[in-house]
Amino acid sequence: MTPATTFAGQKIALFGLGGSGLATVRSLLAGGADVLAWDDNAGSRDRAREQGITVTDLNEADWSGFAALVLAPGVPLTHPEPHWTVGLARAAGTPIIGDIEIFCRERASLAPGAPFVAITGTNGKSTTTALTAHLLRHAGRDVQMGGNIGTAILSLEPPAANRVHVVELSSFQIDLTPSLKSGVGILLNLTPDHLDRHGTMENYAAIKERLVAGADLAVIGVDDAYCAAIAGRRTENRIRLHVEGHGDAAGDYVCADGTVRGPDGAVIAEISGVPSLLGDHNLQNAAAAVAAAIRLGLSREEIAAGLKSFPGLAHRMEPLRRIGPTLFVNDSKATNADSTEKALLAFRDIHWIVGGKAKEGGIEPLAPLFDRVTHAYLIGASSDAFAATLEGRVAVTRCGTLEVATETAARAARTSGTEAPVVLLSPACASYDQFPNFEVRGDRFRDLVSALPDENAV
Ligand code: ADP
Repeated sequence: MTPATTFAGQKIALFGLGGSGLATVRSLLAGGADVLAWDDNAGSRDRAREQGITVTDLNEADWSGFAALVLAPGVPLTHPEPHWTVGLARAAGTPIIGDIEIFCRERASLAPGAPFVAITGTNGKSTTTALTAHLLRHAGRDVQMGGNIGTAILSLEPPAANRVHVVELSSFQIDLTPSLKSGVGILLNLTPDHLDRHGTMENYAAIKERLVAGADLAVIGVDDAYCAAIAGRRTENRIRLHVEGHGDAAGDYVCADGTVRGPDGAVIAEISGVPSLLGDHNLQNAAAAVAAAIRLGLSREEIAAGLKSFPGLAHRMEPLRRIGPTLFVNDSKATNADSTEKALLAFRDIHWIVGGKAKEGGIEPLAPLFDRVTHAYLIGASSDAFAATLEGRVAVTRCGTLEVATETAARAARTSGTEAPVVLLSPACASYDQFPNFEVRGDRFRDLVSALPDENAV
């Protein structure tokens, strides 16, 4: 745990008692602050009390003496409208911050030069964070990984000169971190997302830009116009990552043909042979992680060895098993057409398990990739709508459940006699009609696939 020593002796209001909120209360108390913590949700308050945390109604508190309001990142700061605690804090002139800000102040106070890699972007954050942490760990570094992925930042060990923090940050977290500074700041890409919480794309992009503006070295994927403009405003100590086209300035990385090339055109890393980094989108993630690793002093040999052993993240184009020539891939995290597009682009001869609670637009945007699909197996509430979209374009079997779909697709792939069929769960839908979340859906698929008989047993 990182005790928040920079708030010792101060009175802090904290709203939002989820996982990171509870970790923040513990950190503030350990650092010697006086914390008044609250949540609108009675269940969250009860859970906090069960853990020995005193809960105080901030509606009835005296707001004149608070040094800060610490807000959980899920609580609206600006849109659709500021939370009531935000209104009270503003009226009292109280600064509003989040747990990442507390970490940054701790780093500035304890170990200002401590290695710190901060990672954001609309897509690929978790993969890049996990890969960066893996490369560094594999090379024997003391690594702490957390933030928006896994462990709350203040539950990690404190910053120190020989300890690297690799931290994934969402736009909500950046918005609550006024003094964000990092050693390496990575911004992967920007596409419209969370606009209900940020108002406009411009505002969302401006928040994300703060992460690279405050970094000693900025690593920016420049394949979209927003990130290209951001890279244009940050010309010093900057690396641009091009997945498409070619780099045109010193310091650029170009990702193509399964490799990452450095500014001199030499191959820095081979990605195509890494089974857990399938697809072009992962080239961008890998290039960013490699850039951070090089900055932190890893050799190309250390990077190559780390890449080879990267296990990947569950549910994101996760190769599960081969049965004969058939590859089974779990992409349960793909809850919209955009994400599924990445998976369809990575394979051909696809036996596609698709469906669930459909997002607006359904799978029509994927039509240009339907020629990669040999057969679609429909599950979940979207079956009628998706059958209509696919009619006359792709052979379809309505399976209803994931159980039936997995068995049917596995049999069809086996009997097709083709060279390299892929049974792909990439639902392009939320899971809530049949599963509590995408993790449970992906875990179920993994279990079903591991229970399939192997080739010789059939
Ligand atoms: P995040 O943490 O930002 O949600 P993940 O690493 O968990 O990102 O990947 C989630 C999904 O986003 C992947 O399954 C893939 O479909 C897509 N994705 C991952 N990386 C990228 C990228 N660099 N560019 C575009 N899409 C990506």
